[in-house]
Amino acid sequence: MASTTPERRAAELRALLHQASYDYYVLDRPALSDAEYDRLFRELQAIERDHPELRTADSPTQRIGAEPASALAKHTHLVPMISLGNAFTETELAEWEERIARLVGDDARRAGYVAELKIDGTAVSLTYERGVFVKGATRGNGTVGEDVTTNLRTLRDVPLRLRGDDIPRLMEIRGEVYMPFSRFERMNEERVAAGEPVFANPRNSAAGALRQLDPSITAKRPLRFFGYTVAAPPGVALPFDTQWELLETLARWGIPVAPERKCCKSLPEVNEWCRDVESRLRAELDFAIDGGVIKVDSLRLQDELGVVGGREPRWAIARKFAPDIAETRLIAIQVNVGRTGSLNPFAVLEPVEIGGTTVRLATLHNFDLIRAKDLRVGDVVQVKRAGDVIPQVIGPVPERRDPKDPPKKTRIPTHCPSCRTRVERDEEEVAIYCPNVACPDRQLEAIVHFASRHAMDIRGLSYARIEQLIAASLVHDVADLYALTVEQLTALERFADVSAQNLVDAIVASKAQPLSRLLFGLGIRHVGQTAAQLLARHFGTMTALRRATSDDILALRGIGETIALAVVAYFEDPSAKALLDKLEAAGLTLTEPVSVAAGGAFKGMTFVVTGTLPTLSRTQATELIESQGGRVTSGVSKATTCVVVGADAGSKLDKARELGIETIDEDELRRRAGASAAST
Ligand code: NAD
Repeated sequence: MASTTPERRAAELRALLHQASYDYYVLDRPALSDAEYDRLFRELQAIERDHPELRTADSPTQRIGAEPASALAKHTHLVPMISLGNAFTETELAEWEERIARLVGDDARRAGYVAELKIDGTAVSLTYERGVFVKGATRGNGTVGEDVTTNLRTLRDVPLRLRGDDIPRLMEIRGEVYMPFSRFERMNEERVAAGEPVFANPRNSAAGALRQLDPSITAKRPLRFFGYTVAAPPGVALPFDTQWELLETLARWGIPVAPERKCCKSLPEVNEWCRDVESRLRAELDFAIDGGVIKVDSLRLQDELGVVGGREPRWAIARKFAPDIAETRLIAIQVNVGRTGSLNPFAVLEPVEIGGTTVRLATLHNFDLIRAKDLRVGDVVQVKRAGDVIPQVIGPVPERRDPKDPPKKTRIPTHCPSCRTRVERDEEEVAIYCPNVACPDRQLEAIVHFASRHAMDIRGLSYARIEQLIAASLVHDVADLYALTVEQLTALERFADVSAQNLVDAIVASKAQPLSRLLFGLGIRHVGQTAAQLLARHFGTMTALRRATSDDILALRGIGETIALAVVAYFEDPSAKALLDKLEAAGLTLTEPVSVAAGGAFKGMTFVVTGTLPTLSRTQATELIESQGGRVTSGVSKATTCVVVGADAGSKLDKARELGIETIDEDELRRRAGASAAST
C-alpha cells in the first residue's frame, strides 16, 4: 500500500465494500469471506479515524446494510434497526467498557452485562399489535427494509399471537432468522438428489429464502427465528427494566430465545463466557454464530448511552470470534477408498490458518456434491473448520476464477484408484464404490477399522504398521492378524523384540472381545456400534446370527430393513463366510456375555455422561451403564434420569441443574452398578 495515498486507498476501500455489501445483502451471494470484509472495513475505519476529512456520508462505516433493492414492498421501521460495533480481542472489549465508564461512570459496571450468542443469520423486525403479528420486515438500510410478512408467517417459530397478559400495545420484536446446520445439510442432500444446485452456506440461504417473492418457496426452506430485543415507539411502556428480563419475557411470550445466554457481573466473567463459547460450545451448536453480543444489562443505562453515528449502540458490542471459515486454493482432489469400498474424495489445499490451526486437507463428502457445487482443482475455495470436526470445503468462489482460463470441470472417476476395478454406484446412495473385496486400499481400511478402539481395540496396531504388514504380504485380511508371529514381525523394519511381542500379545488379547465388538469390527455395511450390540445381545452367538433370516433380524427393535438386508447379504457372501471360518479357527470369542440388563440396576433409566471421568472413558462408562440395562443419550432433557459428571463439565451440567436432574460422579456410578451386579 506504500505507493497509494490514504485518500486513494479510502476511495478504493469504499468501492470494494459497497460492492461486497451489495453482493452480501441484496444478492445473498457474498464474493468475500466475512473475515476479509471485516479486515477491509477496519482498514477504512482506521483511515477515517486518522483523516476525518476523508469520511464521506455514504462511507460503509456510516451506513447500515444496503438499500433494499428487491421487488418486495418497502417497509419503514417504527424504530430504526441498528448494527453493532466490533471487538475482536479482550483488549478491545476492555476499551469498550472504558468508553462507557467515561460517559456513565461506574454505573454500567455495577449493573452488569448480558452475554448472548451472536447468531449469524439475517436480521428481521416483527411488528406485534396487541399481541398479534401484523408485519415482518428485513433490516434493509436500517430505516427502510423489505416487507416479508407473508414469508415470515411460514416460520413455525414466529408466533402469530403472543401469550401473556403484559403485552405492549405496539412493538417491534427484533431477532435473527437462521437455518440450522442439520436442516441445511439435509436440504442440500435433497437438492443433490433432485439434481438442483446446492446452497453455499446457511446464512446466505436463510437470507435468500426469506426474501423470496413466492412465500411457498420460503415455506419449503427450514428457517428458524431467535428474538433478542424489543423496540417500542414513544409512549409505549415495556414491562421490563433489564436486558435479562427482556429475554426472559420474550421467552414467556412464546418467542424463541437463543440458548447459552449469561448474566455476567464483570468483564472477566464475560471473557470467560466468550472463551468457553468459542473453544467448546460453538462446535456443539446446530446453528452458525460469529461471536457473542455483550450488552449493558440496565435498559435505563442503554437509553442514556444511546447510539453512535446512527449506526452502532454504545451499550452493546459484538465480540467477534476468530473466523472458522477461510479461503484458500484447492490444489488437488484425491480419493481414499473406504473399508466398504466407497470412494471418498478429499481436498488437498494450500495451507491456510483457521481458528489457530493450519488446515491442509478437508473432506469433500462425495462426487455428487463436488459436481453440484461445481468445484474444480485450481479454484479458490471456502473452507470451514468447527471444533474438532474434520475441515470441510464449503464451495468454490467462482468470482475468483480467471474468466480467460477457468479451471477444468472435475470428472468423476470410473475406476478405483487403488486396484483399477470399474466403480459401481449404489442406487440408493450418493457414493460410488469399488466392488473388489480384495482391493488393497479397502483391506487396509478394513483392518484399521477392525483394530480400532471401539472395535477389537488392538493397541499398537497403527495405520503405518498395517500398511507395513500388507506391503510385506503378511496380512491380506483381518483373520491373518491372528497368525502373525514375533519372528515374522522382528524381521520387519522398525520392529524391536519388545514391540513385536507387545503387538502379538495385543492381537491375542483381542480374541477375548465379545461378539458385539467383532460384529462392529467386521465393517458390515450400515452396522454401527449400536446395531452390532443389538444383534449380539439378541442372537447371543455368531452361529445363531449367521443362521438368522432377514425377518428374524427385522423383528429386533431398533433394526430397520437396510441393516437387516445388509447383514443377511454379508453372511451370504462367500468371501465373508470364508473369513468368518478363519476367525473361528483362530479362536475368537464368538459369543456375547449374557447381559444383566433384564434385572439391571439401571433398567429404564436414561443417563448422560459429561466431562472427563477420572478413570472410565466415555465408551467404558456407556458400556457399564448399558450392562445394567440403562440407556445413554447425548443431550440432557426432562427424560434424563441422571447425569454422570466428570472434570470440566460444561453446559450439560448447567442444564441438569436447571432441570433439577440428579448428578453423580464416577465413584457413585460404579457403586450403584456394582451393588446391583453383586446382588444379581
Ligand atoms: P454484524 O452482523 O456484525 O452485527 C449486527 C447484527 O448482529 C445485528 O443487526 C443483528 O442482526 C445481529 N445479531 C445477532 N445476534 C444478536 C444478538 N444476540 N443481539 C443483537 N444483535 C444480534 O453487523 P451487520 O451490520 O449486520 O453486518 C456486518 C457484517 O456482515 C460484517 O462484519 C461481515 O461479517 C458481514 N458482511 C459480509 C460481507 C461479505 O462480503 N462477506 C459483506 C457485508 C457484510
